[in-house]
Amino acid sequence: MSSDLLVVGGGITGLALAVHAARAGLQTTLVDAGPLGGQRSTQQSGALIRTHYADASSAALALEGLEHFETFEERYGASAGFTRTGFAYVPEPHEDLGARIAMLQAVGVETELRTPGELRSIDAAVRVEDAEAVAWEPRSGYASPALTCAALAGAAVAAGAVMHERRPVERLLPGGGARLRDGAVLEAGRTVLCAGAASAELAATVGLDLPLQPTAVKLAVFERHVETHLAVIDAPNGTYLRPDGVGGTLVGRRTWTDEPLARTDSPLPAVDDGFVADARERLVRRLPGAAGARVLSTRAGMLDMTPDGLPLVGPTNIDGLWCCCGWSGTGFKTGPSVGAALAGWLNAGEPPAELRAFDPHRAQLGGIAVRSPH
Ligand SMILES: Cc1cc2nc3c(=O)[nH]c(=O)nc-3n(C[C@H](O)[C@H](O)[C@H](O)COP(=O)(O)OP(=O)(O)OC[C@H]3O[C@@H](n4cnc5c(N)ncnc54)[C@H](O)[C@@H]3O)c2cc1C
Repeated sequence: MSSDLLVVGGGITGLALAVHAARAGLQTTLVDAGPLGGQRSTQQSGALIRTHYADASSAALALEGLEHFETFEERYGASAGFTRTGFAYVPEPHEDLGARIAMLQAVGVETELRTPGELRSIDAAVRVEDAEAVAWEPRSGYASPALTCAALAGAAVAAGAVMHERRPVERLLPGGGARLRDGAVLEAGRTVLCAGAASAELAATVGLDLPLQPTAVKLAVFERHVETHLAVIDAPNGTYLRPDGVGGTLVGRRTWTDEPLARTDSPLPAVDDGFVADARERLVRRLPGAAGARVLSTRAGMLDMTPDGLPLVGPTNIDGLWCCCGWSGTGFKTGPSVGAALAGWLNAGEPPAELRAFDPHRAQLGGIAVRSPH
């Protein structure tokens, strides 16, 4: 049987698209090479949900994403484990934070400048005295990748989507659909690549070159010394941090290109003592109380980097083939809102304003324009 839509990849992006496409009345099939949930990326995610971005399109998507997470149970029938912590962005000295905040406020983001002293009255544990000011967001926080994906998968099935797990796509078919490694053919009017970095090798089977570089990133979780604290992106220190579960503080490095992987199935690097020691040192610059904190866990994950750090979303020049990949280390928070916006586009034919900047064939894709994980 042929579907209207084949979604390749069941990480947060593909699952959210399947929910919204099926709800919009498209006969939707989703296929994943592994278990649903995106084992190498979505499940390893820092899952920080904030709206501070350097470009208005990403900020608009992130704001919609935040709204989805704030009302997740109502929309998707189960919790995403969204925890509101508040968020601070510590800029590099050359950044014009005033102009950035004005841009974000024009998009509708709730954010304001705070001096280091003002931030201390919001969260006494966090030190930002080396910055003139930081961007403060009261609504931001983090969610649980496992709960989020379980809820989305349930909502997709409830809406009528057909889900195939552990069935890798071998190649795409010209005009829509795919052949699986087990020999089955899934026919579809349109196919959307939500396979993260693996989207490039699948696109190549129909002659499309997608500029995606699989890259490894690492994080560590340390014992938390306070009940909770703000989530922080710390640009000068090259880190992001947030509370993690009951007693942890998660710290990730803001690296995007340092550890390229040869293939999307290359083993992820071990998180060694050097990384942990460095992450602890950087953490202590913001949370001095964390000095000497025990490391609770570590993990590595894979990013799907594009040359300009922005995603590839929309129809391609191959008939029936669309992309929704290249999230470049920042696609968790926007997964639900992208799914909704893209399903609307597939259904109604009109590109939503917030996705227009991400044309997979955009001319400026050669250079690094914006990098703002996570
Ligand atoms: C360590 C880390 C920290 C991060 N922190 C944040 C953060 O704080 N906030 C944030 O917003 N984002 C963050 N990100 C980024 C975010 O997690 C990703 O952008 C997002 O999860 C990508 O989801 P996805 O569904 O597009 O891709 P994925 O999760 O990679 O899912 C792709 C799916 O495609 C499937 N697939 C691959 N090949 C095939 C095939 N041949 N056939 C069928 N299926 C296939 C895979 O099995 C997988 O399930 C982080 C990422 C990492 C790794």
